[in-house]
Amino acid sequence: MVAVAAANNQAQTCNTPNGLATAPKALYVDVPQEQEAPDAPAHQPRLLCAAANSSQEWSCSNWAGTVSWAPSSVVVPASEAELAAFLQASAAAAAASGVPRPPMKVVGFAHSWAGLYTPANASDGTPGITLALHKLSGITKVTDTHVEVLAGTSFAQLFQDLAALNLTLAWPPGGIQGLTVGGAVSVGFHGSQMSVGGVSSVVQSLRLLDTSGNTHDLDDSSNPDAMRAARMALGMCGIITRVQLPVSSEFHLRRRRWRVDDSDAFLDYQLPQLKQQYDRFHWYLHPETATSWPMYWEPATAAESAAEGRSCRTAAEQWEDAQEKEFGVDGLPLIMRWDNCSDISSRSLTHAIDMEQQPLWNGEYYVALDDAGEAAATRAILEGFQAVAESRGLSKPSTHLWLHVRYVGGDTSSLLNPCYGSATCAAFELGLVAPAMDAELPPWDEWAAYFGAMEKVLRGYNGRPHHAKYYTAEVPSQPGFGLPVEQFRRECARFDPQRLLRNERFDAVFLAGTGAQQA
Ligand SMILES: Cc1cc2nc3c(=O)[nH]c(=O)nc-3n(C[C@H](O)[C@H](O)[C@H](O)COP(=O)(O)OP(=O)(O)OC[C@H]3O[C@@H](n4cnc5c(N)ncnc54)[C@H](O)[C@@H]3O)c2cc1C
Repeated sequence: MVAVAAANNQAQTCNTPNGLATAPKALYVDVPQEQEAPDAPAHQPRLLCAAANSSQEWSCSNWAGTVSWAPSSVVVPASEAELAAFLQASAAAAAASGVPRPPMKVVGFAHSWAGLYTPANASDGTPGITLALHKLSGITKVTDTHVEVLAGTSFAQLFQDLAALNLTLAWPPGGIQGLTVGGAVSVGFHGSQMSVGGVSSVVQSLRLLDTSGNTHDLDDSSNPDAMRAARMALGMCGIITRVQLPVSSEFHLRRRRWRVDDSDAFLDYQLPQLKQQYDRFHWYLHPETATSWPMYWEPATAAESAAEGRSCRTAAEQWEDAQEKEFGVDGLPLIMRWDNCSDISSRSLTHAIDMEQQPLWNGEYYVALDDAGEAAATRAILEGFQAVAESRGLSKPSTHLWLHVRYVGGDTSSLLNPCYGSATCAAFELGLVAPAMDAELPPWDEWAAYFGAMEKVLRGYNGRPHHAKYYTAEVPSQPGFGLPVEQFRRECARFDPQRLLRNERFDAVFLAGTGAQQA
């Protein structure tokens, strides 16, 4: 018995001979409402997958509409037991028939720009299966220090549920909360904090199901090697159904952002000082105007936070930023607004639930650099952008191009961590945003040219891509970007011996030349 997706995630249940779904249906991503203003447009759940035509073939696409795939079926289990039963039935059917099992892949909310959630095709070309864990949602256990949460829970929902208990995550998240806990952990979702890694690094225990449907409860003390593979595995190391994350009491934050018109002074003098001064710090650079926008946040009392006079609203509702018409008809793009406010932690950390009103292209590289190297790399990137602009007959780079640099603490707790082996990495993120809310994305070739310029520079500094974001398929000069991918494959073979959860893009770029097994 298998639950299959129906409109608004109301699961239908059907029996089919091979345990796979065939009914007409649609799968929506629905997170808590972003807009708070009474006159805000009605909140629309996003269609993730739907039966494409009368033949009932599935069609799915990611957040930005830049990745699409057509799975053979979409399976939406209502519980861990139902997921296990599906996997066991699929394994048993294959054993009885001798027909190899189809590949499969979990999708979270498909917020990744890299097609990490696209299942591989079977050897006869049949598309694989999409597994959606959206119904596995909610807190299963909570103490003063930790919460155990099901993998399909959105971060937005988790923050809401914790706030009701006067708790919040004891880890500073990144710029969006409309994503699943399982998806965020699987890719190493990060914010900006020199001393702390991405969310995977704070997961000390998790539950996963292997592809035969067996349950594995893993933790750092009993299964350190498996944890180093499974906690950031891009969906290739079993199916995570729950994780434990650290929590603390709610606290207040004070955040400040300002504009610097002299980018040379910023890069050479202010930036090194700001990095020394603030653990939680990041900056934007707008290549067209050569303006820099540093931003920090620090703990504060409730009174200090309120005194800033900038309480948290959704990104779309930040009217002050909307006045900055120099940067587009809607002012500063939504990606600039995600944490420009001071408030209690649950509101400060969550006000940008989603940014779908303004689509963007996005790619990111992690790189370990000293201060001089960071300034030199930034200048080389800006020169590259200028060359791209001129090659397109423009005097300056696009108004809609934004460079964003954050800092992530490195660690060796995840074998696939792009900052593996370094103390801290700068994460250079490039965004090319739609010219206005709800406008079309800029053309692909424009994005590819700007991103290519940045990627070339950062690969030259031994940078590694953020797995969930866009990067080219060019094989790196150092196999696997120097990550221990063979060890990763060995650990994960235990949970997926047939490589049903493989990802073809990862195989092509990260496994090439490493000696690790490919399909
Ligand atoms: C507007 C926007 C802003 C963003 N900001 C940031 C940011 O600030 N910092 C940052 O680091 N990233 C950021 N991201 C990227 C985001 O972190 C990733 O795309 C994240 O994976 C999205 O979660 P998801 O639930 O949509 O996962 P998906 O994109 O659906 O899946 C990601 C991967 O996780 C796997 N997966 C999902 N669930 C499970 C599970 N239960 N078990 C095993 N594997 C699983 C999938 O197979 C896939 O390989 C942003 C994305 C957007 C669209």
